[in-house]
Amino acid sequence: VVQVTRTVAEVRERVHAARRAGRRIGLVPTMGFLHEGHLSLIRRAATDCDDVVVSVFVNPTQFNDAADLAAYPRDEENDVALAASAGATMVFAPPVEEVYPAGFATTVELRGPITETFEGAVRGPEHFWGVATVVTKLFGMVQPDVAYFGQKDAQQCVVVTRLVTDLDLPVELVICPTVREPDGLAMSSRNVRLRGDDRDRALALVDGLDAADAAVRAGETDVAAVESVATKAMLARGVGPDYVAVVDATTLAPLERIAERSLILVAAHVGPVRLIDNAVLDRS
Ligand code: AMP
Repeated sequence: VVQVTRTVAEVRERVHAARRAGRRIGLVPTMGFLHEGHLSLIRRAATDCDDVVVSVFVNPTQFNDAADLAAYPRDEENDVALAASAGATMVFAPPVEEVYPAGFATTVELRGPITETFEGAVRGPEHFWGVATVVTKLFGMVQPDVAYFGQKDAQQCVVVTRLVTDLDLPVELVICPTVREPDGLAMSSRNVRLRGDDRDRALALVDGLDAADAAVRAGETDVAAVESVATKAMLARGVGPDYVAVVDATTLAPLERIAERSLILVAAHVGPVRLIDNAVLDRS
């Protein structure tokens, strides 16, 4: 049975007791409405760690759009059951006032292109500052030995990796592969808001990634050509991308030629939902 913890004091007490007993603590930060993508992180954490804390917190400071925040799906009861079934030993679901009490004044700001490009260009760098702030706080609140993030949010992984390095945070990061629906759509809590034709049109993102991958495997090394192939594949599903970009996987710096560690990032609006996806481009 997994208990839901709502206060920082209680989560700390329980984690400290576990650590005194020599247990390794894993943290899986989520915004809830758990799906197989989240569960894959929890299962991985459960194989590596003795205790797995799953945080469920829809972080208001990372939403640039109040309507998106209001529409964000929630189902805590189901989340607790799913987290437990995947091996979580604790669910930390604090109310907003516990995370941002009156007088809260600190923001963790990462400067430069990693927070200003792609999602940071569309949503503003404040989105990633919100992520960085809440992740720093969760590390402080839970004090995990290791934390698990999904490659689905590639730019977030780059931001969190930078943050941990820059602030010397004593936590190990594990990035887990993107989990997809059988037809290739990357799992996302937002997918429940895709209705009717939009569910099919959402395949535009993975179509774009697949087309890029095929072009690279066929020997294309010119990034502009690869991006154009991906864009065309998306348009063929009736979806115009917000961006399609081949970048260096560690720095997100733009590339002209396909390199060892190339990543293709795509984003698009499909109906009422904004979706993102990415893939490593493999030349072999
Ligand atoms: P979220 O609840 O969307 O903030 O996601 C919580 C964590 O789960 C983040 O580290 C995400 O990258 C990860 N995640 C979300 N969707 C997927 C997916 N389809 N595959 C793998 N990880 C995912």
